[in-house]
Amino acid sequence: MRNVMQADPVWLLRLTDKVAGQENLTVVIRYSAIVGLVGHLIYIPLFLWLDVAPMAVFNILSCLVFGLAYWLTRRDQAYAALLLGAGEIVTHAVLAVAFIGWESGFGYFILGLTPLIFYSRRWRFSFKVWLVLALTALYIALFLLSLNRTPWVVIDRSQMGVTGALNSIIVFFVFAAVAYVYRLSAITAEAALQRANKALEHQALTDPLTLLPNRRQMHEDLLQSMAHYRATREPFCLVLIDIDYFKALNDRYGHEAGDVILVQVAAAMRAGLRAQDRIARWGGEEFLILMAATALEPARLAAERLRERAADVVLAVNGEPISITLTLGVAEYAGEPDAAPCLSRADVALYRGKQAGRNRVVTAESTDDDRVEALCESGASSAPEPRTRSIRPS
Ligand code: GH3
Ligand code: MG
Ligand code: MG
Repeated sequence: MRNVMQADPVWLLRLTDKVAGQENLTVVIRYSAIVGLVGHLIYIPLFLWLDVAPMAVFNILSCLVFGLAYWLTRRDQAYAALLLGAGEIVTHAVLAVAFIGWESGFGYFILGLTPLIFYSRRWRFSFKVWLVLALTALYIALFLLSLNRTPWVVIDRSQMGVTGALNSIIVFFVFAAVAYVYRLSAITAEAALQRANKALEHQALTDPLTLLPNRRQMHEDLLQSMAHYRATREPFCLVLIDIDYFKALNDRYGHEAGDVILVQVAAAMRAGLRAQDRIARWGGEEFLILMAATALEPARLAAERLRERAADVVLAVNGEPISITLTLGVAEYAGEPDAAPCLSRADVALYRGKQAGRNRVVTAESTDDDRVEALCESGASSAPEPRTRSIRPS
């Protein structure tokens, strides 16, 4: 919010920070109550100077009323405080006009109530309109009545000038302050909306279990990578990964333990990625890696490193150490109009890897049986004996 309000003075921004995040009306009424209390305190010597003692006494009462309004806002009674404050302002305006006349400017304070009434959210719109109409009628009546009537106390013209000018300044200030508060609440609301939008966007693109980007995010990454490919012809590869025998794992340890394993595997894979790679949870126990700026052979080597790394990781499930293996299908993007053919090639390669015994990397170009067999040797059969219990169908 500070960025948006850079042009504002520091003291105002400090106040702004205090107000931000709180229930706005309560805070606005609370500060108004403080201003009302201090204002009426200052007016006591003014009324003594004008020689209108009853108004000075009334101002002491007003201070108590604003003290009470402040207390009410502390007890979350903002609307009671607003009504109390409004009642005081109206009574004060009527009495002051009756005592020293319309030109004293006390009637203007009635005007200042209008924006505050419309600031409230709880009152119905029609109620607010009636309230403002009533205030308008009172304002006009007060003005018309004072035209043909001599005030109870006649003060001299210079005193009238000082009082009228002072009251005009204060009413102008009140309007400026209310406008500032309106702007502040608009900015606060906008900032909160932006934060909420960002959080929603993040949620929409994130898998809630593993906190990896989800399929939707990966589709966006794929679009970007394809556009990049069209511009530069720089190759990229897709690696589709599936955890081997995951169903058996779920059956043996329970679905919740399966979830924990998914989280741990996701974290291990993410940690093993190179800076340019993007990973997403593609489906149940499947992950997809987008290896940017990588041709097929380096992608296969990187996938192989991931496979080895996953096999080495010892997962803790219900206090029992277990290990899992992965089968990975690698395909290079060949400039097709969309990613589906490349995904399909990676899927076919993965399927061949599963058929060939799992725990291996298979590249899409090598889906002929000889190549698979060769890869089988470099994958499952050459893998070291598991140090921990490995999941196989029982
Ligand atoms: P294969 O080696 O052929 O991949 O065997 P598999 O058992 O891993 O494959 P299959 O597709 O038969 O089973 C996948 C299992 O993954 C079935 C499903 O219940 C489980 N699964 C999918 N999503 C989740 C999940 O979010 N949490 C848990 N705990 N299990 C899941
Ligand atoms: Mg699967
Ligand atoms: Mg599986």
